[in-house]
Amino acid sequence: MMKQTTHIKVENLTVKYQFHTAIKDVTFEIQKGDFVGVIGENGSGKTTLIKALLGALDISSGNITFMDDLKVGYLPQHIMRAEGLFPATAEEVALMGLLEEKRFPKRFTKNDKAKVKRIFHELGIMHLLKKRIGNLSGGQQQRVMLARALISDPDVLILDEPTSALDSVIEQTFLDLLKSLNEEKETTIILITHDLATVGEYIDHVIYLNQVLEYDGPFDEFCKNTKHSPYIHLHAKSACGHEMMKKEMKQ
Ligand code: ADP
Repeated sequence: MMKQTTHIKVENLTVKYQFHTAIKDVTFEIQKGDFVGVIGENGSGKTTLIKALLGALDISSGNITFMDDLKVGYLPQHIMRAEGLFPATAEEVALMGLLEEKRFPKRFTKNDKAKVKRIFHELGIMHLLKKRIGNLSGGQQQRVMLARALISDPDVLILDEPTSALDSVIEQTFLDLLKSLNEEKETTIILITHDLATVGEYIDHVIYLNQVLEYDGPFDEFCKNTKHSPYIHLHAKSACGHEMMKKEMKQ
């Protein structure tokens, strides 16, 4: 059995907005190297949970504990329109990921630029280095934002997916990239998604929210649990079928 290292511990977390309780008494742990899917219907508290993890809102009660010195990278699904119009190259946008660590006045070093090149190379986007960010496609911008998040060597990467199905731009190849980071560098990945069908075969840990924590555990157990079948039927029938097929083949 592999030794596990707890990266994030959430205990009895409750977050209220004025009159509305968005999440209630939620407890779970995330281990180093987990590939987590945070799922739930619209309004179930996914964004609230992530904002709480990122320290972007006040929690009402409970505790969130991060392992000492844990570096967390955050990747919004879409860059802001204003950023898209901002006349920066992909290289410059990625370098900005280092700003937090720098003291001002700052100047990017040769090492910084070499690092950007290495990451662009690893992500297969070297050809985008000198392109204006606003001229890139959604998928290309997503990779540049991933490069920006990776430049400070995060131990945990949090990815936010827009809730509208029309906006869903996570593609298989992007998920493959995340999976290889997860496997090769043991980067912990936390992916908020409503699209369990697409991510099902990638994630190994499901956190299913519906104001309360409905489920916290492995993906295959989630599929087997009949309590979740209405959710699975709506969102992940094929993904859970895939999981079942893998099991049959192993037997
Ligand atoms: P999800 O990301 O799963 O769609 P959210 O965390 O955005 O869910 O929202 C959870 C609940 O909290 C929803 O009912 C939403 O309307 C409410 N909510 C979210 N943000 C705010 C806010 N700033 N003020 C008041 N209510 C909010």
